[in-house]
Amino acid sequence: MKKFLSILLSFVIILGFCGCQTATQTTSTDETTSNKTASSVSQAEETIAPALDTDKLEWVDFKEYNLSTEEPVKNVILMIGDGMGENIIKCSEIVKGDKLIMQGIENTVYVKTDSLSGTTDSAAASTAMSCGIKTENQYLGVDENGDPVETMVEFAKARGLKTGLVATQVLPHATPAGMVCHYNARSVLNTLFKQMLRANVDVLFGGGSQYYTGGAERTAVSNDYEYVRDEKDMLKMDGSKKSLGMFAYDGIYGDKTPSLSTMTEKALELLNNDNGFFLMVEGSNIDIKEADLDMEGTLKEMQSFDKAVNSVLSWAENNPGTLVIVTADHETGGVIVPENATAEDINNDCFTSGGEHTSTNVLLMAAGAQSDNLFEEDTIENTDISKAMRKQLNKTYGEAEVKLLNDANV
Ligand SMILES: [Zn+2]
Repeated sequence: MKKFLSILLSFVIILGFCGCQTATQTTSTDETTSNKTASSVSQAEETIAPALDTDKLEWVDFKEYNLSTEEPVKNVILMIGDGMGENIIKCSEIVKGDKLIMQGIENTVYVKTDSLSGTTDSAAASTAMSCGIKTENQYLGVDENGDPVETMVEFAKARGLKTGLVATQVLPHATPAGMVCHYNARSVLNTLFKQMLRANVDVLFGGGSQYYTGGAERTAVSNDYEYVRDEKDMLKMDGSKKSLGMFAYDGIYGDKTPSLSTMTEKALELLNNDNGFFLMVEGSNIDIKEADLDMEGTLKEMQSFDKAVNSVLSWAENNPGTLVIVTADHETGGVIVPENATAEDINNDCFTSGGEHTSTNVLLMAAGAQSDNLFEEDTIENTDISKAMRKQLNKTYGEAEVKLLNDANV
């Protein structure tokens, strides 16, 4: 009997350990698609970090853009590197052996990212940047009471601007969803996707074709969306209908096509019009690879995001009146840069938070129209990003009545 009890106790301890790891993963890891397991964590901790195969990385050569800051703001492009803390930018610079394109942007401030829950998740962070309010983790476009608050897409549409959301994760993922949806749960991806379509966002490019089913498909058809699933068909889109591209069942990782920069360039072509646009572009998978303690994968996603920054700055240079903001929703990974680091020192051991988000301030880099006139302080709250974009757009387009395009939790 004693032996039986001792075996039973061992089982309970083992089960308890696994349960704890799973619970930690669910609450702390930002992303629904992360497949980090207890065993992969312990392996990463026990083995010596492997050298990176940096030959696979194709960085865009550093170039400084000189965008005019004088014009009133006609277009806003908000670029978000999910989980892109300052140190992963520095790690990328060391491995590249040169500055990233985003590091050539002159106007920079630091951003505080905490939500009402403490260290933020991507949902509360997106809500802060979109709606200008602090809310609880998991909440999208709603305040702490669950009441809907005007999103950036709704704000822009009320002023007659076109709108677009481009991401390398599934489209209803937290960051794009916070720009348009109202729900007190980020996990209801099918519903969030329907909200995006009901809001008639003009351009939606990303992953997540698994959500284009049933009600979503009917909504897309009735709201006059053209739906494509590969790069070739995306490039043929002419904007005569609203544009919906879902290029992977799940996220669009690494070298999968279309790249973030190709999707972004096409979105700019489709959105460009006399009455301006608001476009959000997210390098979504930086965070996912950081949560997996995968430096090589993270750098690949950083390279993809920086290439998209290059596309945007190049476009904005030729289209005065465009405000470009490049920032992150939070830091992930507790990334450290070893002292006097060379490329060989940048590896999986640079992650120190077990893949969790941290409360470290992130960088915001701003270029183009009014970019030297956005913030009074050197350190701002993430809610100030929404307020600054709205202030500039209001100067150009005037005030408009708040018109919510979806009810909360429907
Ligand atoms: Zn995030």
